Amino acid sequence: MSAHESERTLRRLRAGELAAAEAARVQAHAATCDTCAQALRALEDAQARFDAGVERALERQRRQDAARPPPRRWMATSVAIAASVLVVVLVRPLLASGPASGVAEGLKRLSGGPAAELRIGGGLGPQREATPGTPEPLEPGERVMLGYRAGTHRYVAALSVDAIGEVTPLHPEAGASAPVEPGIAQQWLPGGWELTGSGAERVVLVLSDEPLPVDTLVEAARRAFVKADGEVTRMAPLEVPGEQTHWVLLKP
Ligand SMILES: [Zn+2]
Repeated sequence: MSAHESERTLRRLRAGELAAAEAARVQAHAATCDTCAQALRALEDAQARFDAGVERALERQRRQDAARPPPRRWMATSVAIAASVLVVVLVRPLLASGPASGVAEGLKRLSGGPAAELRIGGGLGPQREATPGTPEPLEPGERVMLGYRAGTHRYVAALSVDAIGEVTPLHPEAGASAPVEPGIAQQWLPGGWELTGSGAERVVLVLSDEPLPVDTLVEAARRAFVKADGEVTRMAPLEVPGEQTHWVLLKP
């Protein structure tokens, strides 16, 4: 038997892997043996250097993450919400063919000018419509659909601005605003969106008579965000021609 403890034994002592009696014996030996005490200290130093290295690597990673642009917060979403849209589309004609007041209301809706709607669904909460000007809390997993009636307008575009001023074109994602589906019926932008991240997010739908470049819309949204002192909930209408509807959603 060696006069000193093996490195393996010292490592196991540090890791707490030795049985109590064995640990006590090794500690007693190291307390009176310079060689083993030194070996123990070397193990401790190595551990400290390793921890510091890991910490530095993590710090580097955190700095890189902070410098990188945030991931897309909107994801095109799928079929589930399309089913809920069907319900909306079916309900409207029923309203229009209801009793007298219902007819009047229905006709008003149908003959009315341009309008926009933001519908929330697909999560655990009830399907509902967000009211422009009233921040609407979202539940986890909920998705958003955007609808419009074009009236006399011929082009439509939608974008969002998050709490740090990141602007995301929703529809179209590039180019210029898209031709509308003409007519008085409610139309829905294709697909839907699920918001990720947290905080407030402003959604803007613009109906216009001329196609607006998406870049122009994005720049106008950035300017409005800056003018609002970086308060996405307080942004004024974008300085672009056409008719806008704004909603503010509060992500979970
Ligand atoms: Zn020793």
